[in-house]
This record gives sequence, structure tokens and C-alpha cells, in this order.
Amino acid sequence: MEAWDAGEVSGWSRPVGGVQWEASGGRRPVGAVRGEASGRHLKKGSTVTLHHHTSRTPLNRPEAMDSRPPSEAAPTAEHLLSQAAVELEAPDIRGYRKLHPFWPGIDYVIRLQSPRPGPHVLIQALTHGNELCGAIAIDYLMRESIRPERGVLSLVFANVEAYRRWDPEHPHSNRYCDEDYNRVWSDDVLNSTRDSIELRRARALCAYIDSADFLLDLHSMSAPCEPLMVCGVREGGGLKAVELSRALGLPRWLMMDTGHAAGLRMIERRAFADPHAGAVAVLLEAGQHWEMSTAQVAIDLSLRFLAHTGTVPPRWAQSRCVLPTTHQQVIQVTEAVTAQSLDFVWLGEYQGLEIVPDQGTPVARDGDLSICTPYPDCVLVMPTRARFAPGQTMLRFGRLL
Ligand SMILES: [Zn+2]
Repeated sequence: MEAWDAGEVSGWSRPVGGVQWEASGGRRPVGAVRGEASGRHLKKGSTVTLHHHTSRTPLNRPEAMDSRPPSEAAPTAEHLLSQAAVELEAPDIRGYRKLHPFWPGIDYVIRLQSPRPGPHVLIQALTHGNELCGAIAIDYLMRESIRPERGVLSLVFANVEAYRRWDPEHPHSNRYCDEDYNRVWSDDVLNSTRDSIELRRARALCAYIDSADFLLDLHSMSAPCEPLMVCGVREGGGLKAVELSRALGLPRWLMMDTGHAAGLRMIERRAFADPHAGAVAVLLEAGQHWEMSTAQVAIDLSLRFLAHTGTVPPRWAQSRCVLPTTHQQVIQVTEAVTAQSLDFVWLGEYQGLEIVPDQGTPVARDGDLSICTPYPDCVLVMPTRARFAPGQTMLRFGRLL
């Protein structure tokens, strides 16, 4: 694919110093904001229902992936689905399709350029079609008439075809069309002969994504978990993503992880994953997909991100922020649990960020395998409450740093 010419966004310098944040900027919040609960400690023995043997899944390193065809025809299971009510409304984004086009034929990329040099700052929504908060945040920024005071600001709606299929009556059904858009970002997969709706979109956008100096990818979760920032793999850009997240002051939980066996995420691409390169990418999991508070977290994080990168004046962002800065904690994920079968069940009502005191505590069953905590005080990170297929990440185990 032809490389996008990034010359016009070169010559920028990094923002100096942090932005001081205070509580409420006087704007009404979009919805109720989840309380700042700490990681919940489970009572000893509260979930032990099986005679267990330890099931240790291998580390899901990005390099473990291949260019397998999409799993469109693979059977999926629905018995874990979250029954959370849909409180958010999906904004109509059709008006953004041809707004400020940067490249003929590529829709839903809003490119705003300042006459002053500066970084290319990119906020992406709708990597997953049923994660509404990102679309709400971009729609909010546009309604606030956002303009970068330096550099280039790109607001990208990613999997618009999956979003077009959004149906609040079946909210789990449109995460993607053919395959997960956030597992196709290795060059091997992008350059393969495979075809899918998601791959076509990723191939159209990848050079543009690669030109970003700062990337914020807005997501939400199936389980009603506190917001967390996915900072990527520690040795693959994770530390600089943690540093950026600390400068933002939200959310409370910052996670470095091991990637996904099913494929490379966008935040793991090229310069984002190079600890010596200047580009930084973070992925926000803003809360449960359809809760009102999730949209507020996505908006506040976007405003802080834009102020930190020097894209907007700090005062402009602060006056619109609602959520206070919080004390942040880092979780190091040590391993991911991947579904081996469709017969995967949770042994407790896990929402994520529970701390299990005892090593060897069974937390899930996968066919005849028991999934047990590998060490004491193990943090359960992002248990899936969505439709799933074998090979998909179901849970991560982590340590508090
Ligand atoms: Zn997502």
C-alpha cells in the first residue's frame, strides 16, 4: 500500500510538563460515575467448588499468531453474555462520513489541521462496533467545535460497518462483521491474501494509523468493570504507555499485558511497540459497553489526552472535564487465559479487578480443565461476558505493581 505522506506533521516537539487537573469543570456529567472502589478481595474459599488441578495456559505472545482465516464460520458460545441494560444511545455519525476528508475514498476519518506545526494526534472510536462510548466522545468533541491549536488531530471511526449494524435489541451481535478488527494489525496479516470487511478497513487505514504520534483507542468492556487503560506489552511500548497514562491522571487502573494469541492489536504496531520510538499508543477500556458512566470516562480521557499532547489549550479541556484525577495503580498481566472449548464457564460472578488471595483457586472451567489462579493475590483482569469462540482471550491473571 502507498505510504501516507506524514511530512506535514513533522517537526513537532513534545509537550512540556503536566497539566494540573481539578475536579468538576462545572459541566453536568453524561451519567452517574462509578465509585472509586478498590480491587475487591474475595473471601478465602468463596469460589472453590471443584477439585482442581492447575491449568496454566502459555503466554499469549503476539508472535504466536499466524495469518489464519477469519473465524466467521467457527462456532461461538453465548452463555456468558452480560445482561447489562443499554443506557447509551448510539449517535448518528453519517454526517461525519465525508467531513474534512484526508484521502479520497476513505470515509469516516475527520482530519483537522492547525497552521502551527505539532504532533499527529489520533483518537479512534468503534474499533468494536458495539462499543458506543468512542463514537459518543468524538461526536461530543465535534459538537464542541474542537480545533487543534497545533499539529494534526484525526478523529477516526474505525469499524463503521459493524457499527451500522448496531441493534440495541441484540447488543452483543455487532462487535465485528467478519473478524475482530483489533486482531489484524500484524504486517503478515495485512499483507496476506485473506479478505474480510475488517481487513479491508485496516488495509485502508494502516499507513494513516502508523503516521500518528499519539493514539488513543477508545473501547469498553462486556463486564461491568472499573475503567482501565491497556498499555500494551511491557517490553513492547508498555512502559511509555504507562507514563502517558500517568500524565493523564485517569483511569485508576493501568494494565501492561501479554497481547492476544488471536492476533496483533493496533496499539502494538510498529513505532507504538518500539520502546525507543517517540510514538505512544494507549487503549482505554472505559467501563461496561452500554452504561452511561462509560461515555463520560471516554469524553474526559479524550479531553485530557488532547490537552496533554498540546492539541487543545489545557483550560479548554479542563473546563469540560467532570471526573477528578485519581491515584493510579499498575497491573502487570502475567498470562492470558484462552478458551480451549465452547464449554467455558465462570465459577463466580467476576466483573474484573477481583484479587484472589490463594494460589490454585479455580475461577473457571473449560471443558474438563480447571482454570486456577497461578499465585497468591492474583488480580482477575477483564473476564469476558461476551460471545466467544475457542482461541479467544477470556481472562488475564495479573499482579499489582
Ligand atoms: Zn473493544
